[in-house]
Amino acid sequence: HVKERGRGDFGFYQRQMNLDLLTRVKVEHALREALGQQRIHLAYQPQLDLRGDRVIGAEALLRWTDPEMGVVSPAEFIPIAEESGFIIPLGAWALREVLRQGEQWNARGIRLTLSVNVSAVQFHHAGFVDSLVELLKASTLPPSQIELELTESILIQHVDETLERLKALADLGVKLAIDDFGTGYSSLGYLKRFPIHKLKIDQSFVRDIPGDESDAAISKAVINLAHSLNLRVIAEGVENESQRQFLLAAGCDEYQGYLCSPAVAPEEFARMVERLSSK
Ligand code: C2E
Ligand code: MG
Ligand code: MG
Ligand code: MG
Repeated sequence: HVKERGRGDFGFYQRQMNLDLLTRVKVEHALREALGQQRIHLAYQPQLDLRGDRVIGAEALLRWTDPEMGVVSPAEFIPIAEESGFIIPLGAWALREVLRQGEQWNARGIRLTLSVNVSAVQFHHAGFVDSLVELLKASTLPPSQIELELTESILIQHVDETLERLKALADLGVKLAIDDFGTGYSSLGYLKRFPIHKLKIDQSFVRDIPGDESDAAISKAVINLAHSLNLRVIAEGVENESQRQFLLAAGCDEYQGYLCSPAVAPEEFARMVERLSSK
């Protein structure tokens, strides 16, 4: 499962080493070729306001179908891209593509916050902030419509440099969210020092609510923690109505998950938003 091999999870590196070198080199080569041949795409998953049940944002997720290997999950190819350094051009491509998509949707009257996943390697790369500045300059999309999803593992590395970088990003006007919150390192100290806007409750805590008492308690605690720090909070992996009802009652701000829709191609996404907002 995705979560068991998430970014920054040491369990993954164990598995990664078992993937033989030849396979890694093959995947990396195919990945490079795929980006050049426009066989890598972004799919968009709606993020909804819990109280109004309206789509207010979208998370951009990479999708790759290889002619030989078939559909390759980002959980498989992102770590390989990180290890080879290819995540730098791939991540830059994703950001440019999201800005372009956001401009197009704004022009069509679909004004949403677009969330982009940023890997640790990409975040800590020397040129990251400058390249984002350039991309934003070249775009008409307001930076406030962009949200960067960072993992806890990013925040525990090179803490001073990270703090400076997060401040620079917040000064640009982009929003910062912590992805998979609660699965990483349990130091909460960074929450008060870092200019974070949102916590994303990991789907492993959402899966068995409301039935599982521990998960219910953890989800409520994250919601209350977020609110007492003046942060917004979104639940990921919401698949059914009883999960949604529980989160609504617990005061959660937003949700995303298969209950509304999986990530879909841009045009399908736009039509879905137009259909939902005309109801
Ligand atoms: P993530 O950022 O935590 O994304 C959430 C994952 O959960 C996505 O898997 C999404 O399709 C899936 N999901 C959404 N709703 C539900 C649900 O209701 N139930 C279940 N079971 N799953 C749901 P996906 O697209 O396979 O992506 C996996 C991971 O790959 C992402 O986790 C993220 O860490 C990484 N990733 C994807 N796109 C990018 C990217 O552009 N850049 C970087 N650095 N990482 C990416
Ligand atoms: Mg994410
Ligand atoms: Mg601009
Ligand atoms: Mg997540």
